[in-house]
Amino acid sequence: MKAYQMVAWQRPPELREVEVPEPGPGQVLIKVAGAGACHSDLHVMDWPEGAIAGELPFTLGHENTGWVEEVGAGVEGLEHGQAVAVYGPWGCGRCRACRQSKENYCERQAELGAFGGGLGLDGGMAEYMLVPAARLLVPLGDLDPVEAAPLTDAGLTPYHAIKRSLHRLVPGTTTVVIGVGGLGHMALQILRALSGTSTVAVDVDPSKLELARRVGADDVVPAGEEAAAQIRELTRGLGAALVLDFVGSDATLALAAQVAAAEGEISVVGLAGGTHAFRFGSLPFECALTIPYWGSAVELMEVIELARRGKIEAHVERFPLERAAEAYARLREGRIEGRAVVVPHAAE
Ligand code: NAD
Ligand code: ZN
Ligand code: ZN
Repeated sequence: MKAYQMVAWQRPPELREVEVPEPGPGQVLIKVAGAGACHSDLHVMDWPEGAIAGELPFTLGHENTGWVEEVGAGVEGLEHGQAVAVYGPWGCGRCRACRQSKENYCERQAELGAFGGGLGLDGGMAEYMLVPAARLLVPLGDLDPVEAAPLTDAGLTPYHAIKRSLHRLVPGTTTVVIGVGGLGHMALQILRALSGTSTVAVDVDPSKLELARRVGADDVVPAGEEAAAQIRELTRGLGAALVLDFVGSDATLALAAQVAAAEGEISVVGLAGGTHAFRFGSLPFECALTIPYWGSAVELMEVIELARRGKIEAHVERFPLERAAEAYARLREGRIEGRAVVVPHAAE
Protein backbone atom coordinates (compact mmCIF):
# COMPACT_ATOMS: atom_id res chain seq x y z
CA MET A 1 0.00 0.00 0.00
CA LYS A 2 1.00 3.65 -0.27
CA ALA A 3 1.95 5.63 2.85
CA TYR A 4 3.04 9.25 3.27
CA GLN A 5 6.07 8.99 5.55
CA MET A 6 8.64 10.99 7.44
CA VAL A 7 11.90 9.41 6.29
CA ALA A 8 14.42 11.95 7.64
CA TRP A 9 14.21 14.81 10.14
CA GLN A 10 13.91 18.28 8.60
CA ARG A 11 13.32 16.78 5.16
CA PRO A 12 10.02 16.66 3.24
CA PRO A 13 7.99 13.46 3.77
CA GLU A 14 7.73 10.93 0.92
CA LEU A 15 4.97 8.80 -0.54
CA ARG A 16 6.30 5.24 -0.25
CA GLU A 17 5.22 1.69 -0.92
CA VAL A 18 4.94 -0.31 2.34
CA GLU A 19 3.39 -3.58 3.55
CA VAL A 20 -0.18 -3.63 4.83
CA PRO A 21 0.24 -4.39 8.56
CA GLU A 22 -1.32 -7.49 10.17
CA PRO A 23 -3.26 -6.94 13.39
CA GLY A 24 -1.78 -8.92 16.30
CA PRO A 25 -3.71 -9.88 19.45
CA GLY A 26 -5.86 -6.99 20.69
CA GLN A 27 -5.06 -4.84 17.64
CA VAL A 28 -7.33 -3.54 14.88
CA LEU A 29 -6.57 -2.81 11.24
CA ILE A 30 -8.48 0.19 9.89
CA LYS A 31 -9.17 1.03 6.26
CA VAL A 32 -8.49 4.77 6.39
CA ALA A 33 -11.40 7.05 5.48
CA GLY A 34 -9.78 10.41 6.28
CA ALA A 35 -6.52 11.70 7.75
CA GLY A 36 -6.48 15.40 8.64
CA ALA A 37 -3.41 17.52 7.86
CA CYS A 38 -2.66 19.31 11.13
CA HIS A 39 -0.32 22.29 11.51
CA SER A 40 1.57 20.21 14.11
CA ASP A 41 2.77 18.01 11.24
CA LEU A 42 4.48 21.08 9.76
CA HIS A 43 6.25 21.57 13.09
CA VAL A 44 7.23 17.86 13.08
CA MET A 45 8.67 18.27 9.57
CA ASP A 46 10.67 21.32 10.69
CA TRP A 47 11.90 20.19 14.09
CA PRO A 48 15.37 18.63 14.47
CA GLU A 49 15.93 15.02 15.53
CA GLY A 50 14.97 14.44 19.16
CA ALA A 51 12.23 17.08 19.32
CA ILE A 52 9.63 14.31 19.27
CA ALA A 53 10.20 10.69 20.27
CA GLY A 54 9.83 7.94 17.69
CA GLU A 55 11.80 6.18 15.03
CA LEU A 56 11.98 6.89 11.33
CA PRO A 57 10.38 6.12 9.03
CA PHE A 58 6.81 6.60 10.26
CA THR A 59 3.59 7.46 8.46
CA LEU A 60 2.15 10.93 9.17
CA GLY A 61 -1.49 11.59 10.06
CA HIS A 62 -2.65 11.77 13.72
CA GLU A 63 -6.24 12.84 12.99
CA ASN A 64 -7.88 9.72 11.62
CA THR A 65 -11.12 7.93 10.88
CA GLY A 66 -11.79 4.72 9.01
CA TRP A 67 -13.66 1.45 8.74
CA VAL A 68 -12.80 -1.67 10.71
CA GLU A 69 -11.01 -3.95 8.23
CA GLU A 70 -9.65 -6.78 10.37
CA VAL A 71 -9.44 -7.46 14.10
CA GLY A 72 -6.69 -9.33 15.95
CA ALA A 73 -7.22 -12.26 18.33
CA GLY A 74 -9.37 -11.43 21.35
CA VAL A 75 -10.95 -8.26 19.95
CA GLU A 76 -14.71 -8.23 20.41
CA GLY A 77 -17.50 -5.74 19.83
CA LEU A 78 -16.33 -4.37 16.48
CA GLU A 79 -17.88 -5.29 13.15
CA HIS A 80 -16.15 -5.42 9.78
CA GLY A 81 -16.88 -2.16 7.91
CA GLN A 82 -17.97 -0.25 11.01
CA ALA A 83 -17.04 3.47 10.87
CA VAL A 84 -14.75 4.55 13.70
CA ALA A 85 -12.69 7.49 14.87
CA VAL A 86 -9.17 6.80 16.10
CA TYR A 87 -8.37 8.40 19.46
CA GLY A 88 -4.92 9.84 18.75
CA PRO A 89 -2.87 10.01 21.96
CA TRP A 90 -1.85 6.42 22.65
CA GLY A 91 -0.99 5.88 26.32
CA CYS A 92 -0.25 2.72 28.27
CA GLY A 93 -3.97 2.16 28.90
CA ARG A 94 -3.38 1.11 32.52
CA CYS A 95 -2.11 4.07 34.58
CA ARG A 96 -4.38 6.42 36.57
CA ALA A 97 -4.56 9.00 33.77
CA CYS A 98 -5.24 6.38 31.07
CA ARG A 99 -7.96 4.75 33.19
CA GLN A 100 -9.65 8.14 33.32
CA SER A 101 -9.38 8.06 29.50
CA LYS A 102 -6.79 10.89 29.60
CA GLU A 103 -4.18 9.04 27.56
CA ASN A 104 -2.92 12.47 26.43
CA TYR A 105 -1.43 12.69 29.94
CA CYS A 106 -0.31 9.04 30.32
CA GLU A 107 1.97 8.66 33.34
CA ARG A 108 4.20 6.29 31.37
CA GLN A 109 4.69 8.63 28.40
CA ALA A 110 8.45 8.83 28.96
CA GLU A 111 8.70 5.02 28.78
CA LEU A 112 6.42 4.81 25.75
CA GLY A 113 8.26 7.44 23.72
CA ALA A 114 6.12 8.24 20.69
CA PHE A 115 2.80 10.05 21.35
CA GLY A 116 0.75 7.95 18.92
CA GLY A 117 0.07 7.09 15.29
CA GLY A 118 1.38 9.88 13.05
CA LEU A 119 3.52 11.26 15.89
CA GLY A 120 6.43 8.83 15.97
CA LEU A 121 4.42 5.70 15.08
CA ASP A 122 2.61 4.89 11.83
CA GLY A 123 -0.44 7.13 11.36
CA GLY A 124 -3.33 7.44 8.95
CA MET A 125 -1.86 8.93 5.75
CA ALA A 126 -1.92 5.47 4.19
CA GLU A 127 -4.48 3.08 2.78
CA TYR A 128 -4.58 1.12 6.06
CA MET A 129 -3.58 1.88 9.64
CA LEU A 130 -2.82 -0.41 12.55
CA VAL A 131 -4.45 0.68 15.82
CA PRO A 132 -2.69 -0.98 18.78
CA ALA A 133 -5.78 -1.48 20.98
CA ALA A 134 -9.52 -1.60 20.41
CA ARG A 135 -10.07 0.85 23.32
CA LEU A 136 -8.62 3.61 21.06
CA LEU A 137 -11.59 3.43 18.67
CA VAL A 138 -14.82 5.41 19.05
CA PRO A 139 -17.83 4.50 16.85
CA LEU A 140 -18.91 7.26 14.47
CA GLY A 141 -22.48 6.10 13.98
CA ASP A 142 -23.99 7.78 10.93
CA LEU A 143 -21.41 10.61 10.62
CA ASP A 144 -19.58 10.92 7.29
CA PRO A 145 -16.20 9.35 8.18
CA VAL A 146 -14.20 11.73 5.96
CA GLU A 147 -15.77 14.86 7.42
CA ALA A 148 -15.42 13.40 10.92
CA ALA A 149 -11.62 13.01 10.75
CA PRO A 150 -10.89 16.56 12.03
CA LEU A 151 -13.05 15.92 15.09
CA THR A 152 -10.27 13.77 16.58
CA ASP A 153 -7.83 16.68 16.94
CA ALA A 154 -9.04 19.97 15.42
CA GLY A 155 -12.28 19.29 17.34
CA LEU A 156 -11.02 17.46 20.42
CA THR A 157 -8.13 19.80 21.32
CA PRO A 158 -10.21 23.00 21.49
CA TYR A 159 -13.07 21.06 23.11
CA HIS A 160 -10.79 20.05 25.97
CA ALA A 161 -9.33 23.56 26.29
CA ILE A 162 -12.81 25.09 26.39
CA LYS A 163 -14.44 22.49 28.64
CA ARG A 164 -11.85 22.87 31.38
CA SER A 165 -12.50 26.64 31.39
CA LEU A 166 -16.27 26.48 30.96
CA HIS A 167 -16.97 27.80 34.47
CA ARG A 168 -15.54 31.16 33.33
CA LEU A 169 -17.68 31.49 30.21
CA VAL A 170 -20.92 32.92 31.60
CA PRO A 171 -23.10 35.27 29.50
CA GLY A 172 -21.56 38.74 29.53
CA THR A 173 -18.02 37.40 29.15
CA THR A 174 -15.91 37.38 25.99
CA THR A 175 -13.65 34.66 24.60
CA VAL A 176 -10.94 35.59 22.11
CA VAL A 177 -9.91 32.99 19.53
CA ILE A 178 -6.53 33.76 17.95
CA GLY A 179 -5.95 31.86 14.67
CA VAL A 180 -9.00 30.65 12.72
CA GLY A 181 -7.47 27.60 11.07
CA GLY A 182 -8.28 23.93 11.60
CA LEU A 183 -8.54 24.23 15.38
CA GLY A 184 -9.81 27.82 15.57
CA HIS A 185 -12.81 27.33 13.29
CA MET A 186 -13.90 24.37 15.43
CA ALA A 187 -13.28 26.32 18.67
CA LEU A 188 -15.71 29.06 17.61
CA GLN A 189 -18.46 26.48 17.02
CA ILE A 190 -17.74 24.63 20.27
CA LEU A 191 -17.88 27.88 22.26
CA ARG A 192 -21.31 28.59 20.80
CA ALA A 193 -22.55 25.06 21.44
CA LEU A 194 -21.37 24.89 25.07
CA SER A 195 -21.54 28.39 26.53
CA GLY A 196 -23.11 31.85 26.58
CA THR A 197 -19.81 33.68 26.07
CA SER A 198 -19.40 36.16 23.21
CA THR A 199 -16.61 35.42 20.77
CA VAL A 200 -14.01 37.58 19.02
CA ALA A 201 -11.89 35.93 16.31
CA VAL A 202 -8.44 37.25 15.36
CA ASP A 203 -6.43 36.26 12.29
CA VAL A 204 -3.82 37.77 9.94
CA ASP A 205 -5.83 36.66 6.91
CA PRO A 206 -9.12 38.40 5.98
CA SER A 207 -10.51 35.22 4.39
CA LYS A 208 -10.07 33.41 7.74
CA LEU A 209 -12.01 36.21 9.42
CA GLU A 210 -14.79 35.62 6.89
CA LEU A 211 -14.78 31.93 7.79
CA ALA A 212 -14.94 32.96 11.46
CA ARG A 213 -18.10 34.94 10.77
CA ARG A 214 -19.62 32.00 8.91
CA VAL A 215 -19.00 29.63 11.81
CA GLY A 216 -20.57 32.02 14.29
CA ALA A 217 -17.98 34.50 15.63
CA ASP A 218 -19.77 37.53 17.13
CA ASP A 219 -16.92 39.87 16.15
CA VAL A 220 -13.74 39.63 14.10
CA VAL A 221 -10.55 41.68 14.45
CA PRO A 222 -7.56 41.64 12.09
CA ALA A 223 -4.25 40.82 13.81
CA GLY A 224 -1.92 43.80 14.10
CA GLU A 225 -1.14 46.89 16.11
CA GLU A 226 -4.75 47.92 16.61
CA ALA A 227 -6.04 44.50 17.64
CA ALA A 228 -5.60 44.82 21.41
CA ALA A 229 -7.34 48.18 21.59
CA GLN A 230 -10.20 46.96 19.42
CA ILE A 231 -10.72 43.88 21.56
CA ARG A 232 -10.61 45.85 24.80
CA GLU A 233 -13.25 48.16 23.39
CA LEU A 234 -15.44 45.21 22.34
CA THR A 235 -15.22 43.92 25.93
CA ARG A 236 -16.15 47.34 27.37
CA GLY A 237 -12.66 47.59 28.81
CA LEU A 238 -13.02 44.39 30.86
CA GLY A 239 -10.92 42.11 28.71
CA ALA A 240 -11.55 38.47 27.82
CA ALA A 241 -12.42 35.77 30.35
CA LEU A 242 -10.61 33.29 28.10
CA VAL A 243 -8.07 33.72 25.32
CA LEU A 244 -7.47 30.65 23.17
CA ASP A 245 -4.18 31.12 21.31
CA PHE A 246 -4.01 28.72 18.36
CA VAL A 247 -0.72 30.22 17.14
CA GLY A 248 1.56 30.58 20.18
CA SER A 249 4.06 33.08 18.75
CA ASP A 250 5.63 36.03 20.57
CA ALA A 251 3.11 38.32 18.85
CA THR A 252 0.02 36.31 19.75
CA LEU A 253 1.13 35.72 23.35
CA ALA A 254 1.67 39.48 23.70
CA LEU A 255 -1.81 40.12 22.31
CA ALA A 256 -3.30 37.51 24.65
CA ALA A 257 -1.66 39.17 27.67
CA GLN A 258 -2.99 42.57 26.58
CA VAL A 259 -6.60 41.47 26.18
CA ALA A 260 -7.09 38.95 29.02
CA ALA A 261 -9.28 39.94 31.97
CA ALA A 262 -8.37 39.88 35.66
CA GLU A 263 -9.16 36.37 36.92
CA GLY A 264 -9.22 35.29 33.28
CA GLU A 265 -7.22 32.63 31.51
CA ILE A 266 -4.89 32.32 28.54
CA SER A 267 -4.80 28.86 27.01
CA VAL A 268 -1.84 28.44 24.65
CA VAL A 269 -2.59 25.66 22.18
CA GLY A 270 -0.37 26.71 19.25
CA LEU A 271 3.18 25.41 19.10
CA ALA A 272 4.91 28.32 17.35
CA GLY A 273 7.37 28.47 20.25
CA GLY A 274 6.84 32.06 21.39
CA THR A 275 7.61 33.10 24.95
CA HIS A 276 5.89 35.21 27.59
CA ALA A 277 7.82 36.73 30.49
CA PHE A 278 5.69 35.55 33.40
CA ARG A 279 6.16 37.99 36.25
CA PHE A 280 4.24 40.52 38.34
CA GLY A 281 2.64 43.02 35.98
CA SER A 282 2.96 40.91 32.84
CA LEU A 283 -0.61 39.63 33.17
CA PRO A 284 -3.76 40.98 34.79
CA PHE A 285 -4.23 39.94 38.43
CA GLU A 286 -4.98 36.25 38.91
CA CYS A 287 -4.96 35.54 35.20
CA ALA A 288 -3.97 31.92 34.58
CA LEU A 289 -1.67 30.79 31.81
CA THR A 290 -1.86 27.19 30.67
CA ILE A 291 -0.70 24.84 27.91
CA PRO A 292 -3.30 22.12 27.30
CA TYR A 293 -2.50 19.12 25.13
CA TRP A 294 -5.15 17.25 23.06
CA GLY A 295 -8.04 15.73 25.08
CA SER A 296 -9.44 12.56 26.61
CA ALA A 297 -11.15 9.66 24.85
CA VAL A 298 -14.40 10.40 26.69
CA GLU A 299 -14.18 14.00 25.48
CA LEU A 300 -13.77 12.65 21.94
CA MET A 301 -17.05 10.78 22.43
CA GLU A 302 -18.63 14.10 23.47
CA VAL A 303 -17.21 15.90 20.42
CA ILE A 304 -18.59 13.18 18.15
CA GLU A 305 -21.97 13.54 19.83
CA LEU A 306 -21.93 17.32 19.23
CA ALA A 307 -21.22 16.67 15.54
CA ARG A 308 -23.96 14.02 15.32
CA ARG A 309 -26.41 16.57 16.71
CA GLY A 310 -25.34 19.08 14.05
CA LYS A 311 -23.87 21.58 16.54
CA ILE A 312 -20.36 21.50 15.06
CA GLU A 313 -19.08 20.71 11.59
CA ALA A 314 -15.56 20.80 10.18
CA HIS A 315 -15.03 22.67 6.91
CA VAL A 316 -13.14 20.08 4.93
CA GLU A 317 -11.11 20.18 1.73
CA ARG A 318 -10.37 16.67 0.41
CA PHE A 319 -7.06 15.55 -1.12
CA PRO A 320 -6.21 12.11 -2.51
CA LEU A 321 -3.19 10.45 -0.87
CA GLU A 322 -1.07 11.21 -3.95
CA ARG A 323 -1.61 14.93 -3.24
CA ALA A 324 -0.75 14.88 0.48
CA ALA A 325 2.36 17.02 -0.16
CA GLU A 326 0.18 19.64 -1.84
CA ALA A 327 -2.21 19.68 1.14
CA TYR A 328 0.69 20.47 3.49
CA ALA A 329 2.17 23.04 1.10
CA ARG A 330 -1.18 24.85 0.99
CA LEU A 331 -1.47 24.63 4.80
CA ARG A 332 1.97 26.19 5.17
CA GLU A 333 0.98 29.03 2.86
CA GLY A 334 -2.19 29.61 4.89
CA ARG A 335 -4.36 28.62 1.93
CA ILE A 336 -6.54 25.95 3.55
CA GLU A 337 -9.99 26.99 4.70
CA GLY A 338 -10.84 24.85 7.74
CA ARG A 339 -9.08 21.50 7.44
CA ALA A 340 -7.36 19.58 4.62
CA VAL A 341 -8.26 15.90 4.86
CA VAL A 342 -6.32 13.25 2.97
CA VAL A 343 -8.67 10.59 1.56
CA PRO A 344 -6.72 7.46 0.54
CA HIS A 345 -9.62 5.54 -1.03
CA ALA A 346 -11.72 7.03 -3.82
CA ALA A 347 -15.47 7.00 -3.08
CA GLU A 348 -16.92 3.61 -4.02
P1 NAD B 1 -3.76 26.19 10.88
O1 NAD B 1 -2.56 26.45 10.06
O2 NAD B 1 -4.90 25.46 10.30
O3 NAD B 1 -4.32 27.56 11.49
C1 NAD B 1 -3.51 28.57 12.01
C2 NAD B 1 -4.23 29.91 11.80
O4 NAD B 1 -3.53 30.92 12.52
C3 NAD B 1 -4.31 30.35 10.34
O5 NAD B 1 -5.65 30.72 10.03
C4 NAD B 1 -3.37 31.55 10.29
O6 NAD B 1 -3.77 32.53 9.33
C5 NAD B 1 -3.49 32.09 11.69
N1 NAD B 1 -2.36 32.92 12.13
C6 NAD B 1 -1.03 32.77 11.86
N2 NAD B 1 -0.32 33.74 12.47
C7 NAD B 1 -1.20 34.51 13.13
C8 NAD B 1 -1.06 35.67 13.97
N3 NAD B 1 0.13 36.23 14.22
N4 NAD B 1 -2.19 36.20 14.50
C9 NAD B 1 -3.40 35.64 14.25
N5 NAD B 1 -3.58 34.57 13.47
C10 NAD B 1 -2.49 34.01 12.94
O7 NAD B 1 -3.23 25.41 12.19
P2 NAD B 1 -4.00 24.35 13.14
O8 NAD B 1 -3.86 23.00 12.55
O9 NAD B 1 -5.32 24.90 13.51
O10 NAD B 1 -3.03 24.35 14.42
C11 NAD B 1 -2.87 25.53 15.18
C12 NAD B 1 -1.72 25.36 16.17
O11 NAD B 1 -2.11 24.45 17.20
C13 NAD B 1 -0.45 24.78 15.55
O12 NAD B 1 0.68 25.40 16.16
C14 NAD B 1 -0.52 23.33 15.95
O13 NAD B 1 0.75 22.73 15.99
C15 NAD B 1 -1.12 23.45 17.33
N6 NAD B 1 -1.78 22.25 17.87
C16 NAD B 1 -1.65 22.03 19.20
C17 NAD B 1 -2.32 20.98 19.81
C18 NAD B 1 -2.21 20.76 21.29
O14 NAD B 1 -2.72 19.75 21.77
N7 NAD B 1 -1.61 21.66 22.02
C19 NAD B 1 -3.12 20.13 19.02
C20 NAD B 1 -3.25 20.39 17.65
C21 NAD B 1 -2.58 21.47 17.09
ZN1 ZN C 1 -2.69 17.88 15.52
ZN1 ZN D 1 -0.96 5.46 30.86
